[in-house]
Amino acid sequence: MPRSTFASTSYRTPAIVLRTYKLGEADRIIVFLTPSHGQVRAVAKGVRRTSSKLGATLEPFMLVDAQISTGRSLHIVTQAQLRTPYGQALVADYRAYTCAHAMVEVAEHLTEDEDTAAQYRLLHGALAALARGTKDPSLVLDSYLLRALAAAGWPPSFAACVRCGAPGPHRAVNVPLGGSVCPECRPAGSASPAPATVDLLDALLRGDWSRAEAAEPQARAQAAAFVGNYLQWHLERAVKSLKHVERA
Ligand SMILES: [Zn+2]
Repeated sequence: MPRSTFASTSYRTPAIVLRTYKLGEADRIIVFLTPSHGQVRAVAKGVRRTSSKLGATLEPFMLVDAQISTGRSLHIVTQAQLRTPYGQALVADYRAYTCAHAMVEVAEHLTEDEDTAAQYRLLHGALAALARGTKDPSLVLDSYLLRALAAAGWPPSFAACVRCGAPGPHRAVNVPLGGSVCPECRPAGSASPAPATVDLLDALLRGDWSRAEAAEPQARAQAAAFVGNYLQWHLERAVKSLKHVERA
């Protein structure tokens, strides 16, 4: 984006709405994730008035083309055109909706001051998968979380030992180390989930859907628990919306 070349005070970008909150009587702050401008907070003026066309467009999970005017202290959304209404598809499916909420909450934390191109791609792909509704939302969520953490610089491994690289599969996993540990490296406090759980985690990390969807409920529950713990370890805080996700 040659913004500096043109000394522009306004730019146009694809953007996913992560969250919105009220400002004053009729406005909202919109938190966007964009591929090349990072996480953007901008005021959408008058959107809480019933006459506002922007209001319905600037809802969580919507993919829009946004025109952002950059002010001294405040950015303003001057226009937003709907590209893909993921929000509409997701409100119709409660499980997918709760998963999408957890995803945007994590995306907001992971993109506070990061290069966001990879995070934008991952979130977009996961929201699109949820909206299509052909995969188990819990698996889409856990796959997204593992890959988003990997893109944020905390790549887990469920094949080779995360400490020494010895080829797996290994029986034990360790949350702080981020995955499989061999018998030599295994720290005290490592868990020994079912081998099917470790296999599922590996499939989710790689996006191997035929392998992931073959997993039994016990492996799904254990994998979800590992992902939740790994996420909390790195974010150093609880992800509130994960509590509302209904696991199958
Ligand atoms: Zn090892």
